[in-house]
Parts: sequence; structure tokens; C-alpha cells
Amino acid sequence: MTGWRVARGAVLGGALGIAVALPLAEPVWTLRFWQGVVPLLPILFLVSPGTWRNVCPLATVGDGGPVVEGRATNGSAAPLGAVVVALVLLISLRPALFEASGWATSGLLAGVGVFAFAVGRRRPRKSGFCNRLCPILPVEQLYGQAPLIRPENERCGPCDGCTPRGCLDLAGPAALPQLLTGARRGSGWLATPFGAFAGAFPGIVVGFSAAVEPAPWAVLTTMVLAGFASWLTVAVVVRATGLAWAAALPLLAALALGAHLWLALPGVVRIWEVPVPPAPLQLAALGGVAAWTVYAIRMRAGRSVPIGVRRG
Ligand code: SF4
Repeated sequence: MTGWRVARGAVLGGALGIAVALPLAEPVWTLRFWQGVVPLLPILFLVSPGTWRNVCPLATVGDGGPVVEGRATNGSAAPLGAVVVALVLLISLRPALFEASGWATSGLLAGVGVFAFAVGRRRPRKSGFCNRLCPILPVEQLYGQAPLIRPENERCGPCDGCTPRGCLDLAGPAALPQLLTGARRGSGWLATPFGAFAGAFPGIVVGFSAAVEPAPWAVLTTMVLAGFASWLTVAVVVRATGLAWAAALPLLAALALGAHLWLALPGVVRIWEVPVPPAPLQLAALGGVAAWTVYAIRMRAGRSVPIGVRRG
């Protein structure tokens, strides 16, 4: 569809423009990127992860093309533990390194882009980078578990089956049950790689903002401790209440995104000099996340469906 191609080209051009311009621009533009643009992207992951995946610049450069005979497909699950470690390490570098330097931000964008291109070419479609090694993948899977809008998956056309389990584009809301496999009964899902990430992520989000100083070791330590405390608390609550994964995962996504938006929106307002106090925006964000949580739990019960085209 031409519209998606235009959008994809525009987003890729924008990302390249940012990578080229930030080292040359005033330092405030690097801060505006990190504090005024990046914190808003998770809203799109929640509302319509398919829209983001249709235009994501890393997906564009990491697209490995169709399955052809003799070429390996992604027979194994994504190495989620390594991906989460990479995500947390990169986040820990954000305050002291990436927010402080346009060159470092540009290097990060270029480095991840080259990595996506290199590993993406080794396997078909999204099975090399997007569905396997992208550091944002677990966040997309958690927030994108119950999309409100599900557009056509324009990149793949007819699905090649490059990723047998957990592809958000192919499976949509069924991606998480596929990732949790047989551990969905009882509380066993919390011990799966994705369940452990989901339990820890609200703490990781709060830990990022709670670090006492911007030094990477301080941010990393706070995130890891808060993430562990979060997982432990969730484990106790799930064991005590018997909360099923189908209700727990929307609640964990809502906790993480609600905390993120509450903590990040004052910075968004400040960095763009928006002439409104942050509190109404924070409350509106919490209301939106609460409404999504109800929708997500109803969707698991078969009482809500996303808007859009279902296509593999
Ligand atoms: S929709 Fe199909 S071809 Fe496209 S990334 Fe998912 S599994 Fe691979």
C-alpha cells in the first residue's frame, strides 16, 4: 500500500535526519529527542503496535526479505534474557551519555541501525532482528498485547511464517499466549523468560526515575534492584490471589506504562515549553491506561476486538 511505503520512507528519513543533525544542533535538541519524543512512543505501542511495526526505521533496515528455499528460518525462540539485558544496559546509559551528547545519540542510532541491517539479512523477514534481537521487542510485546487498532501488516504481505511463535504481526493478541506456552496454568508463567520480564518491568521503569544520580552504575543498580523487587512482589500477589496470566499481564503493562507516563510527562511538558501544567495530562494518561486495561481484560475474555484488518 503506497501510504504505508510513504510513511515508512518518511520515518526512516526522519531517523537518518536526527542521526545526522543532533551532533551539529544545540544540545537542547538532544534532550528534546530523549525527553520529549522517546517517552511518547510507548503510547503507540499500546494503541497500535502494528502501526509502529509498519513504519519502524529499524524494521525497515532489518527486513531480511521473503523466505526462499535453502535459507534458515527462525526455528528457535528469541534469546529474551540477552535482549532484556541489552535493553536495561542501554537505558542505564541514557542520562549520563545519550542525553548529554548528540554524538553519542547519533552513534547509538547508527550502531543499532547497522546491527539491525547486518543480523536482519541473515534470516527472512523479521526473524533476524525485529522478532529476535531488537532490544525494544519485549516492551512491544508487553504493551502491544491488546491493540486497540490493528492495521494491515504491510511489510510481510502473505505471511512467510518466519517466526513460528509470538509474532505480534501474525498472531496479534495471541502472541503472548504463544510465548508463555504451557506455563499459562497457575503461576508458572512468571518463571518463563517473558513472564519474568513482565513482572520486573514496572520496577525497572520506576527504578530508572528513582536513581539518585545519572551515573550509569547508579541507574543500573536502581533499575535491577527495583526490577527484582517488582518481580518478587508480583510473584507473591499472584501466588496469594491465584491471578491468572490473562488478567495479570494487562495489569503489569498498565502499571509499567502508567508509572512511565506519570514520571515522564512533566519532562515532556518542560522540554517543549508547553504552556499547561503537567497534572491534567498525567491524570488523562492514567485514565487512558485504565480504560485500556479494562479493554485488554475484556479482550482476553472474548468480549472486545481490535479495530482493523486481520491478516497474516
Ligand atoms: S507476519 Fe509472518 S512473515 Fe511477517 S514477521 Fe510475522 S511470522 Fe514473519
